[in-house]
Amino acid sequence: MKNPNKKRADTKPLSPATKFHSDFSVCSKQKDFAGAITLFDSAVSQNLKLNLHHLNCFLYICSNSVESAGHIAIDKGFTIFNHMISSKINPNEATITAVSRLAASKDDADYSFKLVKSLIKYNEKPRLRTYDPALFCYVKKLDAQMSYMVEKDILAMGLCLEEPEIAALLKVSAEVGDADKVYEYLHKLRLGVRCISESTAEIIQNWFRGEKGKKVGGGLVDWDMGRVKDVILKNGGGWHGLGWVGGGEWVVQRTTVDSGGCCCACEEQLACVDLGREDTEKFAQSVIELAVEREKRSNFIQFQEWLEHHNDFEAIVDGANIGLYQQNFADGGFSVSQLEAVVKELYKRSNKWPLVILHEKRIHALLANPYNRGLLEEWIDNGVLYGTPVGSNDDWYWIYAAVKLKCMLVTNDEMRDHIFELLGSSFFPRWKERHQVHYTFLKSQLKLEMPPSYSLVIQESERGAWHMPVTGEYNDESLRTWLCITRPEICEVFDDSSNPAEAHESRKTINEKITNKCSNYSNNSEISCITAPTTPNQQQICNFDEHNPYLVDEKTSMDGGGASIGREDSVEDVDPHFGRKKEPWGLGETREDASRRRSEIANRRE
Ligand SMILES: [Zn+2]
Repeated sequence: MKNPNKKRADTKPLSPATKFHSDFSVCSKQKDFAGAITLFDSAVSQNLKLNLHHLNCFLYICSNSVESAGHIAIDKGFTIFNHMISSKINPNEATITAVSRLAASKDDADYSFKLVKSLIKYNEKPRLRTYDPALFCYVKKLDAQMSYMVEKDILAMGLCLEEPEIAALLKVSAEVGDADKVYEYLHKLRLGVRCISESTAEIIQNWFRGEKGKKVGGGLVDWDMGRVKDVILKNGGGWHGLGWVGGGEWVVQRTTVDSGGCCCACEEQLACVDLGREDTEKFAQSVIELAVEREKRSNFIQFQEWLEHHNDFEAIVDGANIGLYQQNFADGGFSVSQLEAVVKELYKRSNKWPLVILHEKRIHALLANPYNRGLLEEWIDNGVLYGTPVGSNDDWYWIYAAVKLKCMLVTNDEMRDHIFELLGSSFFPRWKERHQVHYTFLKSQLKLEMPPSYSLVIQESERGAWHMPVTGEYNDESLRTWLCITRPEICEVFDDSSNPAEAHESRKTINEKITNKCSNYSNNSEISCITAPTTPNQQQICNFDEHNPYLVDEKTSMDGGGASIGREDSVEDVDPHFGRKKEPWGLGETREDASRRRSEIANRRE
């Protein structure tokens, strides 16, 4: 006989709390607005205890339903928020983000901003998304001053602006006609965003084509063009940040950039942007500190001192990487001939020896072989082979030398090893892009792959022209859309030449100084050359004699051009408006962040 009690238990209605939990789980998955308010109302009427998670979920659904449900969603959202406050439940970042969205939907930017600021009293930290409703609402109302206040608060919180926020600030500045601010945000965009979205491109086009955009700039006479050039060099190329240059109408075009980096619309040569001098120094310092710390046992100081006296290199060669390239076959070992080919090719291109870094142990082994002895001794005699001591990690030696001497670095090592992780994500990828030379051996034929001839970043030229890459996926970069924004009147004045060919050449000069290219630079290995970036004077050495044989008189080869080349730039430290030091939006990390990250990584490894 069946137990009647048991049957009754099966059909017993769920307790209000259990039913709420089951309905809540459905509602939070479906994000159903009508379901959410019914559930909230019934929970309140039954005096059920709602927690932060429940209320945040309801608020999120309300803030997401403003478009479809209009004012009902806004009003209901505030009812839920008031319930939370009167129940003495402290809101968190998610709560405030949702409620400030509701406030912004009522066009109440002030309240939206006030809510964000109220987070502090709950010991909560806002995120960038928390500020967005207030910021976008002020921008919509064209309240530039308050928009800037929101930005100030974002930066004070240690948060970084991203493209939507910078674009919004650019838009409000453009619409109220604040040319200085437009200029400032173009630079923030340059720093924070690689390629601009279509909507940002539209904001920019509207500014330059608009009445107010036309009026910016004080005319060329006000500008010391030499100073503009100097600052560009100091910055590593691609921008000066000194303000609007020149006057007259802008021509805004959508165009492409050819593989050599020449704009197909205005024919300006785009720059290959390196780290600025200050950033280079910072990066070099961090490499030095880490190398010294990591190579304590291997007498790294000796290498540092050696390098002080042997600093006339333009390329560093990761010997092991090249010697062991494609050697994982039966009789594979260390290929001296591959290494020799690279050294030879580098010598041929710049008439200068590269510095080869190799383990001491390896050098001894190679010297033992009579076939290699002559070659290695020649390198040793010329002071271009450095043997790293037993127990050392040669990676530190070549990276240190390349950064310290601002050299090209020939290696296929992608530098993803944990030691490179220690160098951080702000400078290192940019440095690598500009300095690493890859190589291949196809049927024993060496091919060097030089760094790209121009950078895929927003660029400001010395003439005040702007070039901005637009977001998109391309297999072939020369198909990418770029915004080209120039002032033709300036080109004519600036070129100071009636000969269009000469004018073009003159425009190209400064870009070449920065991109360290010979006029015949190309990725074609036969005609490219290697120079040390951020030391524009060294560009002179590009005038090498390509017929110069490999084995040349030592004096000629080692002194060649050296006397006329200063490693230091001639420019004194200028303080452009946008000196990196001052960047509150900085892409770089703080010292504290860096050391925290390093110790985290170190712990992980141990
Ligand atoms: Zn152009």
